[in-house]
Amino acid sequence: MRAVERAIRLVVSEHPSLGVKAICDEEGIEVRHDEMGGAYFGLYTNLYGKAVINVRPDLNVQENLEVISHELYHHFSLRLSENPLPHNLIMEKRCASPFLRFYMRKEEHEADLFAAFFLCPDVSDCETYHDIMRKYNRSKQVAKLRMVAEQMIIYGGGENGLSEKKG
Ligand SMILES: [Zn+2]
Repeated sequence: MRAVERAIRLVVSEHPSLGVKAICDEEGIEVRHDEMGGAYFGLYTNLYGKAVINVRPDLNVQENLEVISHELYHHFSLRLSENPLPHNLIMEKRCASPFLRFYMRKEEHEADLFAAFFLCPDVSDCETYHDIMRKYNRSKQVAKLRMVAEQMIIYGGGENGLSEKKG
């Protein structure tokens, strides 16, 4: 969770408007909608320092936003990396669909968590994931993940992992 938290803090401090489109512009990320084969929903590449997010062209507005948010995590994760590659080396990061059930890499889970927090910042007034879906107009997958993450924050602290939320 710490890596996700660092990325969220970076985004909030540098991009207070928090609009996905504006963040991509400010970061110099080109967003494309080219056809991709297979199960790919989104792809983040960074070649010679030129960042590109490609999103499948057949997604609806909500899915498009969720995929870009997921891909943004790879961008900020790269920026926060302690050993960034020099720009004369080709850097490419690939990822499969967000919110698939079986991921190979930890960073893909982190990207989903990032998107869930980024797109549903405050769920303290939500009792069920349906409330989150309605409040932020999000997909079921994003809303469910955000609800589970909220419970982890509330119950995850303390030595026994079940301490009460403070305040
Ligand atoms: Zn990914």
